[in-house]
Amino acid sequence: MTTDTCGQRQAALRSRLEGEALDALLVTHLPNIRYLTGFTGSAALLLIAVERAVVITDFRYEVQAPREVGSAAEVVIDPVSVWSRLFGVLKEHDRWRVGIESHVLTVADAARIGKGFRGEVVPVADVVEDLRVAKSADEVAAIRAAAGLAQEALAEVLPSIRVGRDEFAIAADLEGALRRRGSEWHPFPTIVASGPRSALPHARTSERAVESGELLLVDFGAQVDGYCADLTRTYVVGTRADERQRMVYDLVGQAQRLAMERLRAGMTGAEADALARDVIRRRGFGDAFGHALGHGLGLEVHEAPRLAASTETVIPAHAVVTVEPGIYLGGWGGVRLEDDVYLGPDGPECLSSPAAELIELM
Ligand code: ZN
Ligand code: ZN
Repeated sequence: MTTDTCGQRQAALRSRLEGEALDALLVTHLPNIRYLTGFTGSAALLLIAVERAVVITDFRYEVQAPREVGSAAEVVIDPVSVWSRLFGVLKEHDRWRVGIESHVLTVADAARIGKGFRGEVVPVADVVEDLRVAKSADEVAAIRAAAGLAQEALAEVLPSIRVGRDEFAIAADLEGALRRRGSEWHPFPTIVASGPRSALPHARTSERAVESGELLLVDFGAQVDGYCADLTRTYVVGTRADERQRMVYDLVGQAQRLAMERLRAGMTGAEADALARDVIRRRGFGDAFGHALGHGLGLEVHEAPRLAASTETVIPAHAVVTVEPGIYLGGWGGVRLEDDVYLGPDGPECLSSPAAELIELM
């Protein structure tokens, strides 16, 4: 990321702050700090004021922080307390209205700010997150690279999946393949869920061994330049799929394809969600699709916008979202298919290669 990019992002943020009559924003959410300055460390405060941007971090980042941040912000290293240093910076500004990120700041840190800063503290939510929704070409390219890497890693592992292998072993192979291909980290714990466990939409991977004729659901991600991909595939293991497995799989696939074709920026989250949900509901499986259709992807694996029945917020142009319908039948199993889609000015563009037919791993 270039200093120029950070400068433009900060400029966009400053015009938002002006709109809220804020003199500064204290940014404490690390993905937001990364977005605005390039700093990737695990501890920092960032103060964005009209004429200044200051990253305050500790001695562990003495070398890394200036290198990553460049001229995007001043870097201050405080070996004792980043908070005391922040209050030192704010000391001359006790008439300022300073925004805090109310959706992420802990109650303890808010109390600390109340004590250490004499000016006005204004809780604001999602100011930086709102800017992050519309992706630049570079951000889209990073997500596409992460999705490509994730698919290659999965393709490498598929031949070793067979009856008797346990979920942990499959997840370990996949995570190893992801890391070898350069995924910076797993954006969330890999889900490998076999048999009836595939009916748990957010199953935790377990020691259970996959049995013949069972569904196997794999939900996993990759991260490139900080940007996340998030994919889900479902297979049948050990034998040919039965009629019901095939029917459910085809229905989920049909719902996903239709949603990915018709999804547009400018729709509300609820309209987007309905694209897939209506297909599933019409066939009588509405109750078995109990989660939202998708979520935004970026520096975080779950970010705005939400594609959910309860969301009236409009999806902005240039968002990257997941499309992940599923059908979960308790005691039987579940099927989910998840791909990543960029909503550009020319319509939706899938950043991954959606699964077509149901694959039987034998
Ligand atoms: Zn997922
Ligand atoms: Zn997802």
